[in-house]
Amino acid sequence: MATINDNYLKLKAGYLFPEIARRVNKFATENPQAPIIRLGIGDVTEPLPAACREAMIKAVEDMGDRDKFKGYGPEQGYAWLREKIAAQDFQARGCDISADEIFISDGSKCDNGNILDIFGDNNSIAVTDPVYPVYVDTNVMAGHTGEANEKGEYGGLVYLPVTAENNFTAQIPSQKVDLIYLCFPNNPTGAVATREHLQAWVDYAKANGSIIFFDAAYEAFISDPTIPHSIYEIPGARDCAIEFRSFSKNAGFTGTRCALSVVPKTLTAKASDGSDVELWKLWNRRQSTKFNGVSYVVQRGAEAVYSIEGQAQTKALVSFYLENAKIIREQMSAAGLQVYGGVNAPYVWVKTPDNITSWDFFDKLLFNSNVVVTPGSGFGAAGEGYFRISAFNSRDNVNEAMKRISAQFK
Ligand SMILES: *Cc1c(COP(=O)(O)O)cnc(C)c1O
Repeated sequence: MATINDNYLKLKAGYLFPEIARRVNKFATENPQAPIIRLGIGDVTEPLPAACREAMIKAVEDMGDRDKFKGYGPEQGYAWLREKIAAQDFQARGCDISADEIFISDGSKCDNGNILDIFGDNNSIAVTDPVYPVYVDTNVMAGHTGEANEKGEYGGLVYLPVTAENNFTAQIPSQKVDLIYLCFPNNPTGAVATREHLQAWVDYAKANGSIIFFDAAYEAFISDPTIPHSIYEIPGARDCAIEFRSFSKNAGFTGTRCALSVVPKTLTAKASDGSDVELWKLWNRRQSTKFNGVSYVVQRGAEAVYSIEGQAQTKALVSFYLENAKIIREQMSAAGLQVYGGVNAPYVWVKTPDNITSWDFFDKLLFNSNVVVTPGSGFGAAGEGYFRISAFNSRDNVNEAMKRISAQFK
């Protein structure tokens, strides 16, 4: 008799976004005329940069030319793309990262989950609360947790609360953890980490033999020049950190699919016999065995991000969303709400008024303003009493949504 991976039964059935969809659909069915604006899900809305489109069209033509046609590419990604990433994203910022330490993939979500393949099952794992749900659910699937309690917290995980009180940057744990997920600029709170904060994490990881998973999907949104874009800007990080990046948010690739992981060759972890094993070798083996690379066409599109035109166009795209975030911040503040984030990130994290719960406020905005936001409690227990507004939308929708929400507080 075939059996299943029972760990899947522990999952809180993809609670957040399906529940939002259920409530929005019910409301839309009962109020078919309601002009609903969705500022919930963090997906981009603006078209792909012209430089990326042109490069992909040219690449499609290559595929129709016998001499330029490409079959299987390197599982790690084409060298011409990895070299540009190493030079422009890392070396230009003083990070000692070489092209062969970069692995091209079809998404950071996948990388964040797949990386667990090369780690043992007995690691203690720390996540922030609130958190990007992928970090938690992939560990549940891998059998690294117990059951969830009524707050949705899984046994065996170390939750590090991030709230206004600690500036949305987790306190370094007092106990020893082996794997730590950090995401800066943060989804959902929009918070960033200072150099000093990241240095404290690197020092902790080095002292405890821990590995940091650093999710930098939103690094392009950093506008404060003192904030590091990469964990490798921090001395010592080559010995304790894996970084994940994506073209989804800076270049609008959520539907095109291209991302990268960085595994420095100096990074090691323990085998059960106590020996040190290079993680680069394991990740290279894992990718070569279970992955056959990102399509040539898409990698050419990603490469165009590094051209002069591509840089200007992606910068304009990011600025557009950051201007939306600024409008959201200003309008919500003017309405008397306490706002966080949205300066170096496309997310604004807002305190609900009068201590209303996240879901009650979600319903209020849906019913009275026909605006969809994301309830903070859906990202973790410490997100209760907050909600997230995404800046990924058209300017008209953002302006209209802000006008409607503000009207409720007049
Ligand atoms: C959007 C996002 C990513 C990117 O995921 P892709 O699979 O590359 O589209 C990664 N991490 C976080 C926290 C995100 O919000």
